[in-house]
Amino acid sequence: MALEGQSPYSIDADWNNLYIGGEWRESESGETIPVEDPSTRETVTHVASGTEADVDAAYEAAVEAQAEWGETPPAQREQLVQGLIHALDEHSEEIIELITTEIGGIHGVGETSIQITQDHLAEAATLPRRMKGETAASNIPGKENIVYREPEGVVTVISPWNFPLNLTARALAPAVAAGNSVVVKPSTDAPIIGGLVWARLAEEAGFPDGVINVVTGRGSEIGDHIASHPDSDVVAFTGSTEVGQHVAGLAAENLAVPAMELGGNNAHIVTAEADVDQAIDSAVFGSFIHQGQVCISINRHIVHESIYDEYVEKLTARAEALPAGSAHDDVVLGPIINESQRDQMLGYVEETIEAGATLETGGETVDLDGVDDSLVVRPTVLSEATNDMAASCNEHFGPIAPVIPFSDVDEAIEMANDTEYGLAGSVHAGDIGAGLQIAKRIDSGNIHVNDQGINDEAHVPFSGTKASGIGGYNSTDFLDEVTEKKWISLQHEPREYPF
Ligand code: NAP
Repeated sequence: MALEGQSPYSIDADWNNLYIGGEWRESESGETIPVEDPSTRETVTHVASGTEADVDAAYEAAVEAQAEWGETPPAQREQLVQGLIHALDEHSEEIIELITTEIGGIHGVGETSIQITQDHLAEAATLPRRMKGETAASNIPGKENIVYREPEGVVTVISPWNFPLNLTARALAPAVAAGNSVVVKPSTDAPIIGGLVWARLAEEAGFPDGVINVVTGRGSEIGDHIASHPDSDVVAFTGSTEVGQHVAGLAAENLAVPAMELGGNNAHIVTAEADVDQAIDSAVFGSFIHQGQVCISINRHIVHESIYDEYVEKLTARAEALPAGSAHDDVVLGPIINESQRDQMLGYVEETIEAGATLETGGETVDLDGVDDSLVVRPTVLSEATNDMAASCNEHFGPIAPVIPFSDVDEAIEMANDTEYGLAGSVHAGDIGAGLQIAKRIDSGNIHVNDQGINDEAHVPFSGTKASGIGGYNSTDFLDEVTEKKWISLQHEPREYPF
């Protein structure tokens, strides 16, 4: 697997195999997919291009392993999840480096990914002991009702590339903690961090063979087969609304539970009464961290006309001061994940300018020494934007801040809600009570007062409304998705029937 003296978590380790039934094996086709470092644009390794036959093998292994795993005592399941915590802790620096190399996350993004992941693992480790059934009184004399809570069986985890470590963890860890086995299909832009790293960690923690399986491969080739697999009982998908809708349809046809966390178009509302400097601090972080490639990052700034000019001026100055470059260097903004994402977001900027907005700063790529066709996009601020311009009404997923003026709070709320999405948002309104009143009127699963949208705490429910998803993650909400209740009644004395 790794050469002598080489860490199995280094990018130079062998990542060319799938992990099925506790074995590392080649794809049945023998084909591989290159993995590019988005900072340098160099191919750094290859992963296996899984086939439908590989997918079938993974589900077969998962079904076989789950029968015993589901019967494992809670303390043992807890211990194994804690094993993931220890293994991750031990290899955190190497994994942060992998995050930088595979997805262009700066060191701070890597550190945050580890912290959030540890939080999800810690919460999941408590679930085996918290997974309780119930009893219910009966209307029938002599009957006792017992409701057991059991694992669903096999949970499919499909994750995106933007925060792959924790977005795989938040489904994988509670699923196995509850006694399910999993088949993980990571993004083709993050096959190591979103998938293969979890196979290594599971091996190190000592999970039984087949409880955690990882199949890398292109969604366009094996995605439908996975989403509609008859052995899949739950499909835990995080990704775009477009793909999520399709996947949810396949899961539902198969009567598997769709647990979907999808796209967002999050508003940052700043009223006349807001502390502008605090709102700007939130805005800079919420728009530009990880190059804006976060489902809960700020997509639109909706700002009162009385403070609009000051807001634009300050946001522009802060954006211009942010260093952007290779994620391997000491910068705040690294590269965009791939060319198509970069071109799409720059296209939205161009369309927005053509529609009448003013480009205050950014809107272009940063040239990097020795890199052909750089993926680094300068932090971009667009003023005089409207809610229907391309950078506002689309999930741009980039370091782009369209700033939209408003004159009264009802108008701001109407604009914030005028989107198909309902994921996250933020409000600065001076008085915290005023902020709360606005937050209550925003149609989103999460909204934060005197902050920005990027928050994730494993013990606090997280979900999107409207086109941002169905089902709940975090806390015991995801436990409900990956377990089912079974009612067994005991008739203690002969029952009287009418005939
Ligand atoms: P994506 O294109 O929808 O892909 C997500 C995952 O689905 C990838 O693993 C992808 O594999 C796979 N996939 C593609 N086609 C499939 C198919 N037919 N069947 C089954 N799986 C298929 O999303 P992304 O570009 O990776 O991630 C960005 C999106 O995720 C944004 O919209 C963002 O808002 C959303 N997101 C939401 C949350 C949340 O909590 N709500 C969190 C993070 C991200 P391939 O890579 O191989 O195509």
